[in-house]
Amino acid sequence: MDFSYPSEVEQFRAELRDWLSANLTDELVAARRPAGRDDAAIELLRAWSRTMADAGWAAVSWPREYGGRGATVLEQLIYTEETTRARAPMPLNVIGMNNIAPAIMQYGTEDQRTALLPRMMRADDIWCQGMSEPEAGSDLAALRTRAARDGDDFVVNGQKIWTSLGHRAHWCQLYVRTDPEAPKHKGISCLIVDMALPGIEVRPLVTLNGDTDFAEVFFHDVRVPADALLGPLNAGWQVATTTLSHERAGAARLYAEMQVRLEELVDDIATQSGALDDPVILRRLGEIAVRIKYLEVLCQRSISATLHGGDPFASASLAKTVWGEIGQDMAVLAFDVLGTGGANAAWANYRLSSRSLTIAGGTTQINKNITAQRVLGLPRK
Ligand SMILES: Cc1cc2nc3c(=O)[nH]c(=O)nc-3n(C[C@H](O)[C@H](O)[C@H](O)COP(=O)(O)OP(=O)(O)OC[C@H]3O[C@@H](n4cnc5c(N)ncnc54)[C@H](O)[C@@H]3O)c2cc1C
Repeated sequence: MDFSYPSEVEQFRAELRDWLSANLTDELVAARRPAGRDDAAIELLRAWSRTMADAGWAAVSWPREYGGRGATVLEQLIYTEETTRARAPMPLNVIGMNNIAPAIMQYGTEDQRTALLPRMMRADDIWCQGMSEPEAGSDLAALRTRAARDGDDFVVNGQKIWTSLGHRAHWCQLYVRTDPEAPKHKGISCLIVDMALPGIEVRPLVTLNGDTDFAEVFFHDVRVPADALLGPLNAGWQVATTTLSHERAGAARLYAEMQVRLEELVDDIATQSGALDDPVILRRLGEIAVRIKYLEVLCQRSISATLHGGDPFASASLAKTVWGEIGQDMAVLAFDVLGTGGANAAWANYRLSSRSLTIAGGTTQINKNITAQRVLGLPRK
């Protein structure tokens, strides 16, 4: 969809494009989808975070006092489109920057903000987010990891699972139960936990494709200082809601990323097989292109709601579902045509990792429930 943007926004785009073309190397482009995140890949991404931070491009939506640019929603949209289309790597601390930082800005003390945010932006510290547990995923409010106050500390016991970067992290935004007697949404608090504290045990998890991107994290009598509380005691649900609503603000990445993947798939099919002459393959590619256009409209609708005071969350939930399904269907098509060796196995890798697209950040079924209620206005039961 074509929009005419105000000249100052186009100026912002031009500046960013110039900077990216001067600083984004082929090595960094290749690092955006590493086959396994080894130490070298982590260091490269950390260096990229620092380069972006030094130039003021790491966190454009953040206020200037924390190293951002105070960018408008339109500038954030341009930023997301341009960095995605230029094939820049996502920040190493992507969950930290998009989900945890907004909660620290809204609920943190000034000490927490100034000590934590600049180091997060530069990836000096790596962050993880401890929400999911074996019996609490979609139903986050069922979480059981317990934090009991004892003197100047909380004593934490329990287990988290699927914690992205848990095995690399210096800090964890941890959701814990602080009032077991209260209704389940009202007895949760959020702690900022130093992952080096005694009693924390991290067990990396290996995914289908052999990567180690997340971990199980166990807490055995971990003494967390009381000033690690983020937001009021027992207000963790509000903190989590802030976090989740920010996760959906970068909707432009959904369609921009799929557009880039489709371009890459067409290039790889053209260079590695003769299948671009096959009308069945062409039809399948065409269907995906049309669905990406639909995804773009959904995302623009969500962004428009952000700008004009509507409900951005409703169409963003639907967009998340559509994005996941497009990614999975594109991975199947790529695998059908290119097999295990396509683009040096990158497509086979995506065939496996794309299974998570409809789970991470909210499952398709949960997002369909949200669509039913908030877009279609259907009753909850
Ligand atoms: C790649 C990846 C990275 C992740 N990173 C993190 C992380 O960093 N931190 C973190 O805390 N978590 C993380 N997660 C976990 C993720 O948030 C959960 O997997 C997700 O919330 C679903 O929870 P679950 O796996 O327990 O599934 P469940 O909630 O047990 O769901 C199982 C199935 O039941 C369906 N279902 C559940 N409830 C309903 C309902 N009410 N109506 C209809 N269907 C329903 C679900 O859609 C799903 O199909 C990650 C997951 C993935 C795949």
